[in-house]
Amino acid sequence: MRIGYGDQAESYRAELRRLLATELPARWRGVGALSREQRQVFVASWRTVLFERGLLAPSWPREYGGGGLSPLEQVIVAEEFARAGVPVGGPNDTFGINMLGNTLVAVGSEDQKRHFLPRILSGEDRWCQGYSEPDAGSDLASLRCRARLDGDEWVIDGQKVWTSAGHLANWIFVLARTDPEAPTHKGITFLLCPIDQPGVEVRPIKMLTGHSEFNEVIFDAARTAGHHVVGEPNEGWPIAMTLLGFERGAAAATLPIRFREELDRLLALAAERGRTTDPIIRQRLAEAYSRVEVLRFLGYRSLTSFLGGASPGAEASVFKLFWSEHHKRVTELAIDIVGVDSLVPEGEMPSGPRMDHPGAPNTTGSWAGTFLVARGGTIYAGTSEIQRNILGERILGLPR
Ligand SMILES: Cc1cc2nc3c(=O)[nH]c(=O)nc-3n(C[C@H](O)[C@H](O)[C@H](O)COP(=O)(O)OP(=O)(O)OC[C@H]3O[C@@H](n4cnc5c(N)ncnc54)[C@H](O)[C@@H]3O)c2cc1C
Repeated sequence: MRIGYGDQAESYRAELRRLLATELPARWRGVGALSREQRQVFVASWRTVLFERGLLAPSWPREYGGGGLSPLEQVIVAEEFARAGVPVGGPNDTFGINMLGNTLVAVGSEDQKRHFLPRILSGEDRWCQGYSEPDAGSDLASLRCRARLDGDEWVIDGQKVWTSAGHLANWIFVLARTDPEAPTHKGITFLLCPIDQPGVEVRPIKMLTGHSEFNEVIFDAARTAGHHVVGEPNEGWPIAMTLLGFERGAAAATLPIRFREELDRLLALAAERGRTTDPIIRQRLAEAYSRVEVLRFLGYRSLTSFLGGASPGAEASVFKLFWSEHHKRVTELAIDIVGVDSLVPEGEMPSGPRMDHPGAPNTTGSWAGTFLVARGGTIYAGTSEIQRNILGERILGLPR
């Protein structure tokens, strides 16, 4: 079977490759080949290049600062960036562009689109996600953070937790209970709240890897304008689910390419350590290869429905479940190949998934760090158990 995108799309790909060749330094090997400090500098300057070229939010309409690209061109951008080993944005862009921005484009008011979308792209507004609470994760609708209207402002009280990149953000989108009498899925409002104010405190949480990438966020009479509501007051739940669809369906085009790059390095590591003759290791490597191929075709399937105009819904859970479970298994295999050396890891331990650092050196530290980080993939954006519940109930039509 030959899968192609057609001549017009391929000529756009060639144009993009020329752009990458012009903009990237000579002998570029991927962002992971840089040191942590060099990487921060590169990502900031690369983000500016993307912003100036209209490639930060390729799908958004041009009138809001987006690229206005066709769905197929967007896919090509994602693929070529993944192949070149460059990021699609900065640390808060997952939340600002992929989650909130896409949600505003889909269901925001005209005023919200005109105000927030250009500010997200310019980097003036950097967002984080205030969904989870200490007693509301999988059962998100049991959230207890409250908000009430006081004149023309909302006043927010409560706590959010696991807020990724919250320490780098100056805005947070918050799910808050605004009608305590209503059934759990009702009476929730989707609010947009500035962080730089006395009523909001961001406290870092130290992770298993030693890094601090997520936070607790405490609201103590925090204030935001009355019109900073997405959708209607008390009707935030469907908005929250729309955003989760974008979060779970993201990267269908890019992840399979990155997983392939990661697997190629694992093969090199296995060869280096003389493990390719071990029949069990060979079997597990072959299984990992098959899963990456399945992911590639799942990616194409998501793209086909996306190109047909569908938004990611319950089907996004198929991809999310499959990639995150694959990553857990492939990194367990990596640790088995590295053996006891993984207890004294050498080299930088990545703070994000290894695929976020394409071109990284094939060190024991990089695999040990990725092994730890991969656990989180089966938890954020809904745990694997929750994805299976969604698949059972909403796709297969099984009873609850
Ligand atoms: C790396 C990382 C980054 C994150 N970033 C953010 C962020 O930026 N913003 C944010 O709001 N949140 C974030 N989260 C939080 C994440 O969304 C929650 O951890 C997740 O929803 C699970 O909730 P919980 O931790 O409360 O676990 P719980 O909901 O308490 O679940 C505990 C266990 O019970 C299982 N379980 C629960 N309910 C069911 C059920 N009905 N059926 C079967 N099994 C069930 C779960 O699968 C899990 O194994 C992040 C998490 C991680 C790991």
